[in-house]
Amino acid sequence: MAHNVIAEAKKCLNCKKPLCRTGCPINTPIPQMIQAFLNGDIDGAGKMLFDNNPLSVICSIVCDHARQCQGHCVRGIKGDPVEISTIENFISERYLDVLKIDCEPANGIKVAVIGGGPAGITTAIMLAQLGYDVTIFESKPRIGGVLRFGIPEFRLPKSYIDRYESLMRGLNIQIRPNMTIGKSFGIKELFRDGFEAISIGTGVTWPNTLNIKGETLGNVHYGVHYLESPEVYHLGNSLIVIGAGNVAMDVARTAMRRGVKDVKIVVRSDRSTANTDELEYAKIEGADVIFNKAPVEITDKGVYFKDTVCDENHKVISMSEDATLMPADSVIIAVSQKPSNLILTDTEGLELTPRGLAKTDENGMTSIPGLFASGDVVKGAKTVVEAVEQAKRTVVAMDRYLKAKVAAEKAAQSAESKGE
Ligand SMILES: Cc1cc2nc3c(=O)[nH]c(=O)nc-3n(C[C@H](O)[C@H](O)[C@H](O)COP(=O)(O)OP(=O)(O)OC[C@H]3O[C@@H](n4cnc5c(N)ncnc54)[C@H](O)[C@@H]3O)c2cc1C
Repeated sequence: MAHNVIAEAKKCLNCKKPLCRTGCPINTPIPQMIQAFLNGDIDGAGKMLFDNNPLSVICSIVCDHARQCQGHCVRGIKGDPVEISTIENFISERYLDVLKIDCEPANGIKVAVIGGGPAGITTAIMLAQLGYDVTIFESKPRIGGVLRFGIPEFRLPKSYIDRYESLMRGLNIQIRPNMTIGKSFGIKELFRDGFEAISIGTGVTWPNTLNIKGETLGNVHYGVHYLESPEVYHLGNSLIVIGAGNVAMDVARTAMRRGVKDVKIVVRSDRSTANTDELEYAKIEGADVIFNKAPVEITDKGVYFKDTVCDENHKVISMSEDATLMPADSVIIAVSQKPSNLILTDTEGLELTPRGLAKTDENGMTSIPGLFASGDVVKGAKTVVEAVEQAKRTVVAMDRYLKAKVAAEKAAQSAESKGE
């Protein structure tokens, strides 16, 4: 392993204009990190990665490297690109053990983070580093969001999230598990209790439906529900997974590992939106991936599909007249997610987008002063690295907002004491 990592790092051309960075949604300083590593400064390389992206180690595992950093590496034009993800993983995984986070002195200002997924974890860590007193509220018993309750163990070991949980406790971040904001109390009560700013990172946890006949039958399930507790499902010997993204691939691979013999992933258009590797892994593990089939009805015996034709943008432009039955014991629908959150619907004054997502300005502030949002709850179902990138920008805006608020309060107090 170590030899591979060093050999891979030595392949880096240290380009003046590093296209790998351009391909990375969070602009990871890839050549700099590789040079620091090769010069023996592995701690410096780790710090560089962590400071730019606190979830660097997670991203080294779950990002779509073939489309992002590695897909842009110039060495890939004529041969194999540098395996940046392997180098990043080696450095960042070790850094989690040795890191000592420098924090600014505690400023006593309370901030609340709602949701403990990638957006919430990033927000909480970065605000704690800036000296804020952070409390994170999480619906589930453990933090992690999709990292813990969606992506299967064989792809992302949960021990990584456990390590983040310890790191956060080490930063004195308070975690309130099993606490769904919007049920017992909401945003208003958090402001009432002295939280000066609040960040929502509640993701999109509710599955989209197909809205076709048969969707309520007993043999039909939703991907995100299945992945949360696959052991409680009895799928039989054959399964149709409807969908084209990472959720569909994770469902298929999990079901096959749990003994379902015949797994078909059926896609409406002519391409998959899953990570390039995930599609290949699903196929190599035995899933049959079938494109250009639109589901029109589900029965106890399987799914009726119509054949589709797509344009050059992969948009379905026409469908066959007749539908044919593809037999299966069970069906799992994995066609993305939407928000299902009382915070969004019940918070007075909170504006939403037409898709029901939190509406924010370019800095992540919602229509309510002091209430920010980041991650999937703002952008819809996207990726871990995008949630982190957005959370990072939101933290900068929260810090600016809080400093301005404190300064304004001090100015008002001093004016009052002078009797102005
Ligand atoms: C099965 C699956 C596989 C995926 N695979 C990949 C992949 O390989 N690579 C990749 O980059 N992306 C992948 N994604 C997408 C990625 O996981 C998400 O984009 C990312 O997790 C979004 O982060 P988030 O913090 O916005 O939301 P989430 O991860 O959804 O976290 C939201 C958190 O908020 C909590 N919450 C919700 N409502 C409340 C409330 N009212 N009060 C308190 N807490 C609340 C939830 O319990 C959850 O813990 C995948 C998604 C799924 C579902």
